[in-house]
Amino acid sequence: MENEIKRLLAAVVHPETGRDIVSDGLIEHIASAADKTTVVLRFAKARDPFAGKIRKQVETLLQERFPQSQILVVVKEGGQPPRPEPKDSTTTGAIAHVIAIASGKGGVGKSTVTANLAIALRNMGFRVGVLDADIYGPSQPKMFGVEGYLPDAVQEEGADRIVPAESMDIKLMSIGFFIKPTDALLWRGAMAVNALKQMIHQTRWGTLDFLLADLPPGTGDIHLSIIGELKINTAVIVSTPQQIAVADVVRGVEMFRNPNVGIPVAGIVENMAWFTPQELPDSRYYLFGKGGARKFAAENGIDFLGEIPIVQSIMEGSDEGRPAVGIDARVEKWYRDIAGKIVEKTVKNGR
Ligand code: ADP
Repeated sequence: MENEIKRLLAAVVHPETGRDIVSDGLIEHIASAADKTTVVLRFAKARDPFAGKIRKQVETLLQERFPQSQILVVVKEGGQPPRPEPKDSTTTGAIAHVIAIASGKGGVGKSTVTANLAIALRNMGFRVGVLDADIYGPSQPKMFGVEGYLPDAVQEEGADRIVPAESMDIKLMSIGFFIKPTDALLWRGAMAVNALKQMIHQTRWGTLDFLLADLPPGTGDIHLSIIGELKINTAVIVSTPQQIAVADVVRGVEMFRNPNVGIPVAGIVENMAWFTPQELPDSRYYLFGKGGARKFAAENGIDFLGEIPIVQSIMEGSDEGRPAVGIDARVEKWYRDIAGKIVEKTVKNGR
């Protein structure tokens, strides 16, 4: 759908540059649902004299092509808001894309999605690392079967480097390697900030195509410190159908979109979208309603990346230290589609 809209809009030419608005990068965002299509146009200049005309042309083209759909064309001006550069991005120097995986609340499957996406990207031939920054429930060591790993420190070119764990070709550094589950939450916060800084700036990642950062759930001070230290290229939001309507998800999106943060949101993944009992493989039970995440995405100008049902192999995979993408072909397919969309948005858009 998105590509079709782009092809359609390539007919609109900016009178000043003489180039079409698609190749000129004026389309910041496209979101389409069954009954609503949203296009965000961003003009580099504030008060571009042709903005109104181009908007009208885009509206007319979309309305002609999608007569049943409600069309919303949003005009933004003045280029992307400036983004404060992290203080020290040396360790992310050899990492092409850092993707933050976030959620409004805990328990929605953010860590499970992170681990499975990591394997899906690896299966596509990318070099992948996982930075588990979820100080409230660091579960990546368990998901990758490396609980109890003690990171070594080594000297490299005069600097201290921490050696990440490695499992299934994925490099993994987790806050769980540094804090004990019995540490009081109060202490965790304070200790975690320092440990996170170290993990961000001193891990020996080597060259990576993608680093997936599993953020703590919600929005808070800890997120601000991570955003300030780690150069995040894009964010993916994970939600369950039950949580989607809750304000925490909106807050999460707003956190990334805040002009002082300015991290693009690649889209939303709906986890636990439906349940299929083993004895009724063709039935889908939408326990918490259907289509909510898709609707939320369209209403908020966010892309919908895909849905993952409740599946036993996913739960077992995380318990046994082998993400289900590696063992269940159905799960592999769902995640490959989502990973493909993320690659499209990051690598191909140069973000
Ligand atoms: P979060 O990181 O959001 O706190 P987790 O990834 O730890 O959540 O997931 C919470 C629990 O739900 C885990 O036991 C996990 O195995 C299970 N789980 C997550 N996604 C699915 C799914 N699609 N199907 C079955 N179980 C799932």
